[in-house]
Amino acid sequence: MYGHDAFKTVAAVSTPRGKGGIAVIRISGGDTAAILDKCFRPAGKPLAERPFRTAVYGEIFSPRGVIDTGVCTLYEEGRSFTGESMAELSCHGGVYVTGEVLAAVFAAGAEPAGPGEFTKRAFINGKLSLSEAEAVGRLIDADTASRAAMASGAVRGRLSSAVGKIDRALLDVMTALYAAIDYPDEDVGTEGEDRIAEVVEGSLAAVDSLRATYKTGRAVADGVKTVICGRPNVGKSSLYNLLLGEDRAIVTSVAGTTRDTLEDTADVGGVTLRLLDTAGIRETSDEVERIGVERAYVKLESAELIIFVADRAEPLSDDDRELMEKIIPLGAEKILVLNKSDRADALTEGDREALSRFERKVEMSCATGEGKEALEREIAKIYNEGALDLSTDAVIWSAAQRASLDRTAELLSDASRAMREGSPLDAVGVMCETALAELRMVDGRNVSEDIIDGIFSKFCVGK
Ligand code: GDP
Repeated sequence: MYGHDAFKTVAAVSTPRGKGGIAVIRISGGDTAAILDKCFRPAGKPLAERPFRTAVYGEIFSPRGVIDTGVCTLYEEGRSFTGESMAELSCHGGVYVTGEVLAAVFAAGAEPAGPGEFTKRAFINGKLSLSEAEAVGRLIDADTASRAAMASGAVRGRLSSAVGKIDRALLDVMTALYAAIDYPDEDVGTEGEDRIAEVVEGSLAAVDSLRATYKTGRAVADGVKTVICGRPNVGKSSLYNLLLGEDRAIVTSVAGTTRDTLEDTADVGGVTLRLLDTAGIRETSDEVERIGVERAYVKLESAELIIFVADRAEPLSDDDRELMEKIIPLGAEKILVLNKSDRADALTEGDREALSRFERKVEMSCATGEGKEALEREIAKIYNEGALDLSTDAVIWSAAQRASLDRTAELLSDASRAMREGSPLDAVGVMCETALAELRMVDGRNVSEDIIDGIFSKFCVGK
């Protein structure tokens, strides 16, 4: 099913490119030991006489001579990351040396590994489920604490075990149903049928609770396209910097200096915000500023979350009100930030009334950081309503996982209805069987080669 690649012995550098203290070359496949015989000479006893999974010091050589000294760890088939016979060869981490060592491994008979090939083999050999394998890539790429927590939870099998539990329940249902179909004389009786219906409904509830994690998982994995907007000088750049925790945008007290748009990711309230800082939106005659302002409007229309910043220390201006009129009808989630809470409140009664059209409001000071937690809580309320703990709860993050679970849920609710309406059991059996097949798409037990290749092609060589 997966072609014959799985049978070749492959190698690649698994540490990042560039200079390092050490570099690690991974070799995986049935010929690993034979290849090492042709490029690694252990100090002392030959590799074959050493226990597996121990560090063995020696010389790495090519037909032209010794390249480096290093350490080799050989893993036996079935007890390695990939599930195959595998080795990790550490050498000094120079760019040239690493390249020569890899070339020596190739000269000894290994072939270059494709992107994500080691992880893909681990999946094919049953060492990792698809969600675990995909999560390995996400953990390596994770740039925020929430992304790392979610990936780490999935690597440790949180999603796989949740899916596996539903899988086993549905298998039990099918066993019971087919027994009833095959031996109609041994009537399962209403009690038996009720029991089956209960398990189907329990599975449906479990599928539904997994589906509900998608909003959070997506917000962490893909990030929420967020626009901070407001007229000049209300504190947009200051908020941007506060959320990023460093000086990304230039803050200045001269109006209209944030001319271009910037994008960055920040971990806020446990989700990933893809922050677009926008030019101060207002009517302007300045040409350069005008271009920035137009771009800002386009971004507003495609934003998923709009943080509208107003300056609490001044009454609302016409610019504030005009911008507000543009934002309120947009479909995005919106949060009003009343900034400069460290200064005296100068908003009028009428201003407060106008601003009450925002359902979510936070009073804060971007200068002192006071109120930042309130903003984080507001964001968590939108994107992590269920208060999921990313590292311990099962969370789905991709549209494909969500689509499979949607279809599973639909089929299970059909099956449950059919059971309750007394439809023939074989019809219910077909629905449950199709539901199980859909469920198995979530975690790679039924996934097509195209989808698997799509997932691993996003990995780099060496992973
Ligand atoms: P932007 O034009 O909306 O991006 O606003 P900036 O972030 O550049 O801020 C404009 C001015 O307001 C700067 O002088 C900031 O130091 C000041 N500022 C921003 N936030 C606060 C705040 O919470 N309190 C006070 N007192 N000043 C602030």
